[in-house]
Amino acid sequence: MQNQSHFKAVSQQHILDILHNSEIGLWEWDMQNDINQINERWAAMIGYTVEEISPLTFTRFESLIHPDDLPIIHAALEAKQAVPERLFSCVFRMQHKQGRWVWIKARGDFSQFESGKPVAMAGVHFEVTELMGKIELERVVYQQLDELMAGTRVAFYSYEPTPPYHLNYVSPNLTADFGLSMHSGDINTDWHQRLHPDERDYVIAEFRQFMASKRRTDLIRTFRMRDKNGVYQYIEDHCHKVIENGEVVRVVGSAQNVQEFMDQDRLLKRIADVALGLLYKFVRAPDGTVSFPFANKSIFDIYGVTAEQVAEDASSVFAAIHPDDVQRVAESIEESAQTLLPWDCEYRVIRGDSTMWVHGQSVPELESDGSIAWYGMIMDITEAKHTEQQLREYQFQLERAQEIAKLGHWRANMSSGELFWSDTIFAIFGFDKQDITPSLDLFNSCVHPEDIEAVRESERVAMETGLHNVEHRIIRPDGEIRWVHELADYTQTESNGRYLTGTVRDITETKLLELELRKLSDTDALTQIDNRRSFFLKALPMLNRQNRIQQPISVIMFDIDEFKRVNDLRGHSAGDQVLIKVSAAVRSRLRGMDLFARLGGEEFIVLAESITCEQAVNVAEQLRHLVSQLEIKLDRDNVFKVTASFGVAERLLDESLDDLMIRVDKAMYRAKQTGRNRVAVAD
Ligand code: GH3
Ligand code: MG
Ligand code: MG
Repeated sequence: MQNQSHFKAVSQQHILDILHNSEIGLWEWDMQNDINQINERWAAMIGYTVEEISPLTFTRFESLIHPDDLPIIHAALEAKQAVPERLFSCVFRMQHKQGRWVWIKARGDFSQFESGKPVAMAGVHFEVTELMGKIELERVVYQQLDELMAGTRVAFYSYEPTPPYHLNYVSPNLTADFGLSMHSGDINTDWHQRLHPDERDYVIAEFRQFMASKRRTDLIRTFRMRDKNGVYQYIEDHCHKVIENGEVVRVVGSAQNVQEFMDQDRLLKRIADVALGLLYKFVRAPDGTVSFPFANKSIFDIYGVTAEQVAEDASSVFAAIHPDDVQRVAESIEESAQTLLPWDCEYRVIRGDSTMWVHGQSVPELESDGSIAWYGMIMDITEAKHTEQQLREYQFQLERAQEIAKLGHWRANMSSGELFWSDTIFAIFGFDKQDITPSLDLFNSCVHPEDIEAVRESERVAMETGLHNVEHRIIRPDGEIRWVHELADYTQTESNGRYLTGTVRDITETKLLELELRKLSDTDALTQIDNRRSFFLKALPMLNRQNRIQQPISVIMFDIDEFKRVNDLRGHSAGDQVLIKVSAAVRSRLRGMDLFARLGGEEFIVLAESITCEQAVNVAEQLRHLVSQLEIKLDRDNVFKVTASFGVAERLLDESLDDLMIRVDKAMYRAKQTGRNRVAVAD
């Protein structure tokens, strides 16, 4: 007996196989009752099951769309209403159950009409999240073909092989549907009367040819026949000649009402035609011949041939493949045939003067006769390829320029801690791209401990001003310390979280130079302590801070006694030695936070935070003692000591630096006046 599958509309099976093997979501929108019927794949694209997402009204659908993309869908729907012949087509983002956005390309067409007005729309969803419209055809179970087969009715018949082709047997279901009976005579009178007038002559002629042919044993065709209610139904009919001893003894056959399939077939064909590329079934027979038993009309756009032209011989298609690629394509098909793993290949096709890039993906299946059938899709990716190429070149140039400039770009998701680094950053931070995955944690672990607060502070400022701007040190895995300058924009969106996007530049060389220059300009060359300029620069912020935190701050000024005599008696370099030794001794006695500077000549100053006048006097006394005990040793026979006179003042509330300096200077002058080598307190 005939296998049931012989009764399916042929192209429909191919389309279903393809859809079954492809990640295509299907939908039909009943616009009157506002209900969307979708398949599991449609729901799975955004992480749901059909059940979870039902009932899917248009409002519910809209709630899954990215707010920015809603106008796109509305515009596409309006366009479809305005020009019904044009397909509904648009690309938008839908929110995945897990929160991320999934790019969807939707296409559709009106599928049902009532009194000329469209009442339903049906179409497809492709996920196009992959950059440049590279559509991933992943495998999905769309619908068991069995489901479609359920409820189909197959009828059988048998008749004489010679005119008037008297019927010997007709199965009851056919008689019930069409009002035919076993006794209703020959095919001419009964069956032929019921054929659709448009097809009658052709169907009869085709039947006569088949019966007259010595070669052909099977005839399979589809035609319309009037049922008992007077309604034309599509029938798929398969006749087979039974041959005994070289003679046709009878013709047996089966017939099936495929109206339902034909309806679906039209819808599926429509889906196949609105699909983004060439949907096809490609077969390689055991003898090596190749064919496209099914291809949608896009085959013309890709290979410049019609589906009919390659239905039995696909070799012309290979002639269109770029000579440099044809070998690779053949090998990839061979490999897929050997392994039965999916075929996936990008190659060029020559169309007239132009070359186009295509991307083919399909799944092979071994058929019972030993041939291999591939179900899949081929898409034109010329534009994407071109853009990809440009992007790659641009990316390359950018990377190159950034490498030269030691400039990298990065993007940090402040909410999730994810971090993207361009290649240059790996080099700046001393990592191998293969070894690590950047993250905020990794970045923080690289920041110099003394600079981590500055980085945090800049991030806080960024949240207010939108600009992240900080120079800081990093410690590389090899221990090397480098300076970097980070400059970034801060953005925050409700849906996407908080991001910093910006650049990082290795500024080690310039920073070290800058630090060196600053040190030079701030440091007294002889004593290596701060100079007068630096003292005034640093003193002001200290006074301001003292104001803010309401802590005392005091100043100690001292001048070496009778220094002129040292110079005169022992020479200028002996005087220099005194300045060096005294400042080094004093510096080592002071706290790190105290500001100590040479104001000029042999006059020094100390600015000490959080110290009252009384405490400062104490410190000054210690320093006086220290200086007086210091042995200045020029050589074995030339050892001497010096003294210094000290003035001390605590800053008064809101007192200016100048006024404070005048007061302490007066105090020191008093110390000189009253005998030197002593400490005097300002009034
Ligand atoms: P007094 O006890 O009143 O401070 O007496 P003095 O001799 O220390 O005072 P005076 O200000 O008259 O002398 C300061 C001398 O310091 C004058 C100058 O030649 C010398 N001097 C200034 N700068 C330097 C220096 O960098 N190196 C050396 N060796 N001498 C310097
Ligand atoms: Mg002096
Ligand atoms: Mg002096």
